[in-house]
Amino acid sequence: MSIEIDGKKGIYEIGCGIYDVTGPAAEVGMMGFAEVKQVTQGIYMRLYSRAFIFGDGERRVVYVCADLCMIYQAVKLAVVAKVAKDPELRDLYDDKNILLSATHTHSGPGGYSHHFLYNLTTKGFIPQNFDAIVEGIYQSIRRAHANIEPGKIFIARGELDGYGFNRATRPYAMNPAEERERYGSDLDKEMTLLKLVGIDGRELGMINWLGVHPTSVGPANHLIGGDHKGLAEYWFEKDKKADLKSAKPFVAAFALAPAGDVSPNLWGVADGVHDYEHMEIIARKQYDKAVELYESCGTGGTKAAADRTSSQAGAASEQLTGPVDSRHRYVDFSKLHIDALHVDTVPAAMGASFLAGSTEDNESQVAIFHEGATVDSLQGNERIVSGAIDSVFGAVWPKTLSEDYIKGQAPKKILVPTGLATFDGNPWTPQILPVQVVRLGQFAIAAQPTEITTMAGRRVRETVKKALAKAGVTHAVVSSHSNAYSSYVTTREEYAGQEYEGASTHFGPYTLDGFLQEFGRLASAIADGSAVPQGIYPVDYKLTQLTLQPGVVYDAASKGRKFGDVLVDARESYKIGEEVVVEFQSAHPRNDLLTMDSFAIVQKKVGARFEDILDDRDPQLTFEWQRLKGAESKAILRWRSGGAETGEYRIVHRGVAKAFWFGKKTRFEGVSRVFVIS
Ligand SMILES: [Zn+2]
Repeated sequence: MSIEIDGKKGIYEIGCGIYDVTGPAAEVGMMGFAEVKQVTQGIYMRLYSRAFIFGDGERRVVYVCADLCMIYQAVKLAVVAKVAKDPELRDLYDDKNILLSATHTHSGPGGYSHHFLYNLTTKGFIPQNFDAIVEGIYQSIRRAHANIEPGKIFIARGELDGYGFNRATRPYAMNPAEERERYGSDLDKEMTLLKLVGIDGRELGMINWLGVHPTSVGPANHLIGGDHKGLAEYWFEKDKKADLKSAKPFVAAFALAPAGDVSPNLWGVADGVHDYEHMEIIARKQYDKAVELYESCGTGGTKAAADRTSSQAGAASEQLTGPVDSRHRYVDFSKLHIDALHVDTVPAAMGASFLAGSTEDNESQVAIFHEGATVDSLQGNERIVSGAIDSVFGAVWPKTLSEDYIKGQAPKKILVPTGLATFDGNPWTPQILPVQVVRLGQFAIAAQPTEITTMAGRRVRETVKKALAKAGVTHAVVSSHSNAYSSYVTTREEYAGQEYEGASTHFGPYTLDGFLQEFGRLASAIADGSAVPQGIYPVDYKLTQLTLQPGVVYDAASKGRKFGDVLVDARESYKIGEEVVVEFQSAHPRNDLLTMDSFAIVQKKVGARFEDILDDRDPQLTFEWQRLKGAESKAILRWRSGGAETGEYRIVHRGVAKAFWFGKKTRFEGVSRVFVIS
């Protein structure tokens, strides 16, 4: 029996796929806090790319949510290039209907941009990380494609509290009073959730969007992980018994809505002591709400009921029906004319208070300038430093001193002219940015290629909803950190405040107005069924990347030992909840990323044999890597045994060692003694 796919009747093609994107787990600069000393040294949870494909029988779209700090332009271009070479995918998917987004975890390795500024704190480009990310996203799309089956999509929306706070209240308060009153809060609070069910009733997957920075785990951390969003995804997938090695696991994505000014750090800046505890609290908030919304889906909710209650704390759901569609275009934001305002944007620049960092979230450790520094408010040392920086840039790139540029960015005090400063002809940050709108029945997604503040995000969402209203769209989200990365976008009013987020808004005060114009045009084109021009295709600067990170030379075991030998063994017995720690002679984790595999494993004795019960995916088991002397290293595996069943266990460490002669790589495995948990 074949089922007819028909979006109009609410029967869609749905496919979900998940794949590992965990990069090098040792000695690579981490992305998010711009803290040079923060390098990877192990894993608390692996990172995954989660792909969802939707089709109405005529058209398809791909939505990817990856546990990454951001999706750089280079990543999207490379994933699309792989898809274009794949005979099964190339006729169906391209840059126009693939939307890649990131959760914005600050606990992952960096160096995967092709733009200089974003590789500054990672010793340049890290090809191994870039390849792992691109391949992992591509594999997740392949799996989603292979899993396509007929199904239904339900949507639910609800409000959540206590998951964070607005970290930029001064600029937020500069937005019009009438607009602020309309929303009643400087947090958006809304979670929007999709539940995906096969036509036979089998549960396939879930995506939800909520805006809050994944910065519970702060810059003192050296282990790779997904922060609160990764943890919530893990819990949700565990509930559904998702076995990632099976062909068709349930896939749950906790995606990012506008979070440019939203911090989870209700207890103050992450202190390196309570980070994991706080991550769990914020994850629990999102997880509980997602479960509630998910459970409310497919229980006979009507469209009218959803409209009535969507602004209240409760949950209601409706089924999506109608076409699947998308529009995508590249826009040059360095000189975009905004018709409605008769103004133009200007080339990218970072302002002085970008270097102050977001003082509420500890995003930068360099504090030369105060938050809120403008052209007119520089004081003492700030003037001296900025004058010196101006003359250095001006000497190499004279246009950075042009009157139009300086005026066009005002009141921002230009510190780093990232659009005009070039590295081998490549601007330090991208200026030709992708803008994309996706439609699934009465639901629309705007793909924002930046971080974006709460109020700016609301304006994008309302613009898209309004333009698509005549086509029957009643729900919309802004998918943050999508398809490219170009720092922040604030409203024009917030920009005037020049706090961290305004200083990091690249194309001057009218940056958001440019996005509103372009998103509005794409949404209207979907509503009218008209085409949009592609725009100028951005250059991929993959051949001009500089790598300063040295490779692994070779590994050595300590005298009289071999790789995998136990250095510190487990005790004979533990009480449930105690921490089990085992140390092994190890080798550099960069020799092999062990993708879809594991450096750390807990095995339980079942009958006569040992079965794997926990691995790198599980947050209660961590893998930590330490260099000893020279080429020698050790691995420390820790298992917090809370919730374990009584029984006999052992801890296993896997790795790959690189030999001094000819660099031959050999897999090794170390096993602890058998111990009892009681
Ligand atoms: Zn951020």
